[in-house]
Amino acid sequence: MKTAAFATLGCKVNFYETEALIDLFNRAGYAITDFNNPADVYIINTCTVTHLSDRKCRQLIRRARRKSPQAIIAVTGCYAQVFPQELAQIPEVNLMVGTHNRQEFPRLVEEASPGAKLEMVHPYEESPAFERLSYRANRSRTRAFLKVQEGCEQYCNYCIVPLARGPARSAPLEDVLVEARHIAAAGYREVVITGIRLGMYEDKAAGIKLGGLLKEIEKAAPALERIRLSSLEPSDFDEELVHIIASSQKICPHLHIPLQSGNDYILKKMNRPYNTREYRELVQHLRQLMPHLALGTDVMVGFPGETAEHHRRSYEFLKEISFSRLHVFRFSPRPGTAAAEMENPVDPLTREERWHEINALGQQMARRYREKFYGAEVKILVEKANSDGHVNYLEGFTAHYLRARAVYDGPEAFPNRKGREKPEAFREWKGHDGPEAPRDWKGRMALVKIESVREEILEGKFLLEK
Ligand code: SF4
Repeated sequence: MKTAAFATLGCKVNFYETEALIDLFNRAGYAITDFNNPADVYIINTCTVTHLSDRKCRQLIRRARRKSPQAIIAVTGCYAQVFPQELAQIPEVNLMVGTHNRQEFPRLVEEASPGAKLEMVHPYEESPAFERLSYRANRSRTRAFLKVQEGCEQYCNYCIVPLARGPARSAPLEDVLVEARHIAAAGYREVVITGIRLGMYEDKAAGIKLGGLLKEIEKAAPALERIRLSSLEPSDFDEELVHIIASSQKICPHLHIPLQSGNDYILKKMNRPYNTREYRELVQHLRQLMPHLALGTDVMVGFPGETAEHHRRSYEFLKEISFSRLHVFRFSPRPGTAAAEMENPVDPLTREERWHEINALGQQMARRYREKFYGAEVKILVEKANSDGHVNYLEGFTAHYLRARAVYDGPEAFPNRKGREKPEAFREWKGHDGPEAPRDWKGRMALVKIESVREEILEGKFLLEK
């Protein structure tokens, strides 16, 4: 049997698409192997949001070639869609496939050969259809991704995404519901709804936007305990969506709302369609309805023309809003975007200093947010069972997207040593509504009472009852 190995860079949409590609290759008769193993085919699903993503892609290409000199190395995703000519210069690359027409991928791999290059990258038409890749939820992750939307037409001045992903389009409601049922039937407790510009979701024929879609997913797949939203632009919230998110028992009180800059002059230069007053009002409204809302954001430092004063105001605004998680990026000029041509670039050293300053603020704010959960009882979706030599624990994420550990006195986290007698505590676990060994808790919910807030993680006692 031929083997295929996958690597993914970038956002949640890419992770979703890699899972879909894995399914396609499974069906085409390939066994899937780890990217660090020798394989017949390596598929790298790329991002091109910054030049660092491009560099990581090139590193993965070289790593794959070192592992298997005769393998087919295929590159897909945003980097392949926007810069195929760059990839064509890399001798190790055999196949380039953009961000659409990927149903053809297994066939193209069969046609490719180690000594040649094959390119399947087409520009987008004006109104492309939403491309549904074959997808069968597998249990390799604890949460499933469900892509419902593709593309963006906002053309923020720094962003390469409209070129990489084409115009906005949405999956038909019925297809989304079929997939949501599928995910629930596969045993997932949590689904992450993703899209390039998720807030633009719309099925015109069904008369439904994102808020309505979320309600329909809840109804169609009641076994799902958590519905998480990947990222929503500030301008994509309307009253209906806010109300649906705030009143749902299943939609996680965790939103990622990219800000990019806390200074109005820079927001305007970026072509972002809101200002800081509107952003503040949105957050105030959300927090009135969800007081413990986990709020993450993206911030870019060093956009062309950003002075020390713009930066200071941006810093103050971030502090005022107080986020639970900050993703800080240094501006990276992408060829083909308006910002790449702008005057007054910020020098790399200043960019670096600003990055460190805002990143440090982000860490302080994240810690302050985590501390609010001291003493609370929270559910985690278990990702792993482990032991640090002193204690055994289950670890996973809360609905507010905080990493937390549930420490227990029961059997060892990995009771896979053959012949070991089950400790007494197992019997207790057996009576509980859950699997009997800790390692089987992966993908299930566990209740934990938080007793300490450590670096990056909450920790507490695993509560058997409830
Ligand atoms: S909204 Fe702006 S930043 Fe987001 S994908 Fe569209 S163009 Fe890029």
